[in-house]
Amino acid sequence: MAKVKKTVKGITIVADKCNGCRACELICSAFHATPKYSSSNPARSRIRVVREPLRDIYLPVYAGEYTAAECTGRDKYIIDGKEYAECDFCRASCPSRNLFKEPDSGLPLKCDMCEDDPALEKPKCVEWCLNDALIYEERVEEVEEEDVSPGDVEIGVDSLIDKYGLQQVLDTIARASKR
Ligand code: SF4
Ligand code: SF4
Repeated sequence: MAKVKKTVKGITIVADKCNGCRACELICSAFHATPKYSSSNPARSRIRVVREPLRDIYLPVYAGEYTAAECTGRDKYIIDGKEYAECDFCRASCPSRNLFKEPDSGLPLKCDMCEDDPALEKPKCVEWCLNDALIYEERVEEVEEEDVSPGDVEIGVDSLIDKYGLQQVLDTIARASKR
C-alpha cells in the first residue's frame, strides 16, 4: 500500500506551569465563533481547564474523540500528592458529562488545532498562554494512504443520529438540500 507523508500536530501540556487563568478557553471559543471572534464562551471551548484552586489543581485538557458510550471502568490518579477526579484526564465528549459539548446543539466539540486558511503559525490557545504551559510541536510521519481518521463532519453526523435517529437526520438533510 502506498505511503503518504502526514504532518502530525501536537501540544505538550506542562500542567505545573498552568495558573488557571483560562485565557486558552476564551480565545478558543472566540476563534471558533461564527463570525470569528464575535463572542467568547468557555462552554464552547475545545480546551477546558480543570480548576481546583484550594487543592492547587490546574489541568488543561483538550477535547478529543466523541464516544457514544461511557466507559465501564474509571481510573483514579494521585500525582505529587494531588488526587484528581476520575474523569479529569479524559478527553472524550461522552454521555456521562457535559464537557466538550456545544451548549445549544449538544454536538460534540473536538480540538481541530485551529485549522485555518492560511494556516496559523501556532494554535490560538498556545499563542495566548503566557505561562508556556502549552507547547506546540509538529512532526512529519509516513502513514498508509488509507490511514485517515474520521473528520469532524462524520463525528457530528454520528452524534446527530444517536440523538435524533437516522430517519429524522435524513429528513432534515433532504429538506435542507431543497433550500
Ligand atoms: S492560558 Fe495557559 S496558564 Fe492560562 S489556563 Fe490556559 S493553559 Fe493554563
Ligand atoms: S488548538 Fe485551537 S481548537 Fe484546539 S483547543 Fe487550542 S485553540 Fe482550541
